[in-house]
Amino acid sequence: MLIQDYDKLIFEISTEGHTAYDLPASEIEDYDLDSELGDYSRKEPARLPEVSELQLLRHYTALSNRNFGVESGPYPLGSCTMKYNPKVNEEVAALDGFSNIHPNQDPESIQGAMELMYNLQEYLKEITQFDAVTLQPAAGAHGELASILTFKAYFEAIGEGDQRKTILIPDTAHGTNPATAVVAGYDIVELPSREDGLIDVEAVREAAGPDVAGIMVTNPSTAGLFEQDAKEIADIIHEAGGLVFYDGANLNAIMGISSPAAMGFDACHMNLHKTFTGPHGGGGPGSGPIGVVDKLAPYIPGPNVVKDGDKYVFETPEKSYGRIKGDFGNFGVNVRAYNYIRAMGPEGLRRASEDAVLNANYLRARVKDHYNAPFDQFNKNDFVLDLTNFKKEYDIVAKDVGKRLLDYGVHAPTTYFPLIIQECLMVEPTDTESKRDLDYTADVFIKIAEEIKEDPELVKTAPHNTPVRRIDEAQTSRKPILKYNFEDHESPADSK
Ligand SMILES: *Cc1c(COP(=O)(O)O)cnc(C)c1O
Repeated sequence: MLIQDYDKLIFEISTEGHTAYDLPASEIEDYDLDSELGDYSRKEPARLPEVSELQLLRHYTALSNRNFGVESGPYPLGSCTMKYNPKVNEEVAALDGFSNIHPNQDPESIQGAMELMYNLQEYLKEITQFDAVTLQPAAGAHGELASILTFKAYFEAIGEGDQRKTILIPDTAHGTNPATAVVAGYDIVELPSREDGLIDVEAVREAAGPDVAGIMVTNPSTAGLFEQDAKEIADIIHEAGGLVFYDGANLNAIMGISSPAAMGFDACHMNLHKTFTGPHGGGGPGSGPIGVVDKLAPYIPGPNVVKDGDKYVFETPEKSYGRIKGDFGNFGVNVRAYNYIRAMGPEGLRRASEDAVLNANYLRARVKDHYNAPFDQFNKNDFVLDLTNFKKEYDIVAKDVGKRLLDYGVHAPTTYFPLIIQECLMVEPTDTESKRDLDYTADVFIKIAEEIKEDPELVKTAPHNTPVRRIDEAQTSRKPILKYNFEDHESPADSK
């Protein structure tokens, strides 16, 4: 059969002599770099693929068509908030004054960029109701670490560093929370959740004590539920001398309605690449600023932007534990978030939260009779489905449903998370899905539930309509092949 092959590896479509550039002859004399490099000089020519400019374009266009993104279809990846990233953000981030500046430039010459950082800090203060914000952390987990290291610096400063060695982590916390606490040098104590999926307040009361540095509360939790006792939990920990951290990665559930500070928390991180529309496929770049209460403000990382008269200057808080990232955070992502906040305004941000919650509850209501949807109450921006019954009856697991969704042009939800449910799907439609697409997504979920009963094998062997069928996920992450191995292939360069 004749098929277009531009989605092959670029080495496999290489033809000797093709180039994707056309440069005028160099007027500079050849320079003998090899003799200067001595032992470090290249022993054989670099084996680069040789393709024309048009072939290069066809190759990358073919690859992009094989990918699935939020611009291909619904992407309900729970907890990850794969919402639409407005294109105007890209234009703004690409403006000369933002994209062609250097972190080592004289601050006098980048006052506009610094004004943006300052204003963004102020907006995030308003959204979280905290007293100080740093834009330094480059991702959510990084923001968690920045926060917990701030707790640590605070306890060391008040002479309780040696005493408070434990961080409490509810079992519905995001997986990065316990990882953060361990990286920050703490012991962790896991708190079991109650039958209804919420944090067990009595368990918090029992665990609180003079050895506890704090608690990390993911709110809404990974069960998609709002922790209604958040304020009481904060009070219990405070009474025992500890600090409370709010995992605010999913701030899009409460933005403009409530805030971590209003719930009595001392610090939170925000995922600007989720709630505030930074594009975040493939692991980055992200931005995870943190906000803190007044008493922690002297300890947060820096430098941050402060206003000195009518000038903006960089300043690091007096007792700061220092930098947590080179330069000033992921500036490009921060520009996008700033643009989003300005475009939405306070009413718009609140509306985004309301829509995120409404969409999740609508989707849940439409599919819940076809799947087991535990914790029967209103959800926040995501919800979970428990497929344990499908597994028992039809040997269908959560992953199978995720794969089958791809056949219908819907990205898989988060699978096997939260860990409190064995065969779990975590679904987050986001605020940017239309009712039309929500209904389509619901129809697909319902159709797959029927397929499971009628033809489980069809679901077990999915996906059928994607460029790549089911792959060995363990091998792809444990033994990734990241470079073209000429020994395994006969390359055009070798065959001549
Ligand atoms: C995504 C997420 C994180 C981690 O954020 P990263 O930017 O991926 O490091 C932490 N907590 C929750 C609840 C999240 O959804």
